[in-house]
Amino acid sequence: MKAKDILKQMTPYKPGKQIEEVKQEYGLDRIVKLASNENPNGFSSTVKKELPKLISSLEIYPDGYAASLRKKVAGFISVDPDQLIFGNGSDEIVQIICRAFLETGSNTVMAAPTFPQYRHNALIEGAEVRQVPLQDGHHDLDEMLAQIDDQTRVLWLCTPNNPTGVHINHQNLTAFMEECPDHVLVVIDEAYYEYLEADDAFNSLSALDEYANLVVLRTFSKAYGLAGLRIGYGVASKEIIQILEPAREPFNTSTIAQAAAILAIDDQDFIQKSVNENHKNKRALMEFCDANGIGYYDTQANFLLIHLPMSGDEMFEHLLSKGFIVRSGEALGLPDTIRLTIGKAEDMEQIQEAMLQKIAAQVSGER
Ligand SMILES: *Cc1c(COP(=O)(O)O)cnc(C)c1O
Repeated sequence: MKAKDILKQMTPYKPGKQIEEVKQEYGLDRIVKLASNENPNGFSSTVKKELPKLISSLEIYPDGYAASLRKKVAGFISVDPDQLIFGNGSDEIVQIICRAFLETGSNTVMAAPTFPQYRHNALIEGAEVRQVPLQDGHHDLDEMLAQIDDQTRVLWLCTPNNPTGVHINHQNLTAFMEECPDHVLVVIDEAYYEYLEADDAFNSLSALDEYANLVVLRTFSKAYGLAGLRIGYGVASKEIIQILEPAREPFNTSTIAQAAAILAIDDQDFIQKSVNENHKNKRALMEFCDANGIGYYDTQANFLLIHLPMSGDEMFEHLLSKGFIVRSGEALGLPDTIRLTIGKAEDMEQIQEAMLQKIAAQVSGER
């Protein structure tokens, strides 16, 4: 047998620890997962109520065109229906873009660290991956431009960036788009779009009218709380969507996911409440960090990347023993950090206490 050589150098995605696993290992009753930026409030109660009714016709293939959801999203974000492509999570749109645009001999430019799936899928397609280190949590847009050559096909901007939470502001992103050559497809991944509260945020959807080489990614997995159903979408010119469509599996999004997403859009109260609560708890967490001399990146997402006086793995293990699953920065190339999803107020208070314990023990140990 002979598979692609690159696969031998790659590892499968390592998911965050599973709740049941940790419960057993540590003999804990309650585990709080703050590792994958899920919505601590779950998802819309309308979706929960209506979902069982959708179980009736599972023998029928889903609508591969997702016509109803397409119409709904198009109306919701004011674009034409043929400017949309739906995926089994926005992860799948990343994969489709790579399948459609990348191959051996081509290259792709991205920040480091950023969302790992850009690199992962690009490598499988045989493309050269050009990673540009973040500067203080920010995309180094000038250096990213400098990395572009005639073979560059796709450039990825994650805003707010996972794992730093930092966003690219309007002025910088506009200047970047003005400089970026037309032959490069620019993907703006806005998985955390709903949480953005900065008043200088880039309006990516209106930029679609100005730049023909732009794709915007959004998802129902984060603020909408539907990560388990796998549904996300891309928005672009209809020419770009036409290029991507043949690279999409015909029935890639399920009947249930499509229906749930429609209902979820109709419940903007849930989104507003989730976002407001997130902002409040985020500010409290930042104040806690400030009060205790703990550094962090100024996040516009539903997570915070925290700088520690110890390795991320050490803090990860400590928090795990207290019933909190977080992400260690170690695997992300940010060894002395953890990435913490903003959870419910009461859980945040407890995790803050647990972090402080560990930091205090470390500091007194150093003396
Ligand atoms: C979570 C996340 C996604 C993937 O979301 P799905 O729609 O669940 O596949 C995409 N991009 C970033 C930056 C994310 O953090």
